[in-house]
Amino acid sequence: MAGIVTRFAPSPTGPLHLGSAFAALFAERAAREAGGMFLLRIEDLDFTRCRPEHEAAILEDLAWLGIAWDGPVRRQSEHLSDFAQALERLHGQGVVYPCFCTRGDVLRAATAPHGPEGPVYPGTCRHLDAATREARIAAGHGHAFRLDLARALALTGPLGWTDRDAGPQTARPELFGDIVVARRDIGTSYHVAVVVDDALQGVTLVTRGEDLFAATHVQRVLQALLGLAPPAYHHHRLILDDAGQRLAKRAPSATLGGLRATGQTPAQVRACLGFA
Ligand code: GLU
Repeated sequence: MAGIVTRFAPSPTGPLHLGSAFAALFAERAAREAGGMFLLRIEDLDFTRCRPEHEAAILEDLAWLGIAWDGPVRRQSEHLSDFAQALERLHGQGVVYPCFCTRGDVLRAATAPHGPEGPVYPGTCRHLDAATREARIAAGHGHAFRLDLARALALTGPLGWTDRDAGPQTARPELFGDIVVARRDIGTSYHVAVVVDDALQGVTLVTRGEDLFAATHVQRVLQALLGLAPPAYHHHRLILDDAGQRLAKRAPSATLGGLRATGQTPAQVRACLGFA
């Protein structure tokens, strides 16, 4: 597969831990083996959780581990207009609606089935008429925007995507329901930003942990709506602790900084992750 482009896309919400180091090494190797390019993207949209000092530490840890990315780092917070344009396109297609519900409202909708990201939105605000929506917005009620999945699928028809490991998949966005495409605080969402950036950066192979496998179902719908070519995917295993649990992000024994402080070398860390 010549010409492949992969990326590592950490959110700077904490120090780099072994799980993310594995993801970075995996993406770099996939690119290098194919003579392709490996990009670094900092997913720092969520200003409530992301910190510049975490980004600085991540870049330092990657360099310490001997990981070299191609081209400049793309920082999502510097490209909000790209996501706004995507949102406008979705508005133009009539597949989004304002949602005034708080997180508490959604959690209290006890009948809602649970999806990969928590309760599936019960559709409360989808049923509001235009006059009510306008009145609430005019009265200054905070709102997010959600994807009207049924309308979206009426436009896209059935979709699929391919995982290099798991093979061809039928997209199952109904697992997520009407996802938020623009959060009330940041005006966009992870799912929108990730598909827009992967396309703008020319990423052809998305490698990431299998915890994001299900997210691809809904990201595929956004790609179809936005006219973006779907990349191939390779969802890889997660690094677990001795008890078989996902690594706690801040446990010093799992962070690269913590391992470095105990005298581990980059070669030892790479070897322990299977990248000797
Ligand atoms: N920023 C996401 C994370 O740190 C990864 C997103 C992706 O690879 O699509 O979990």
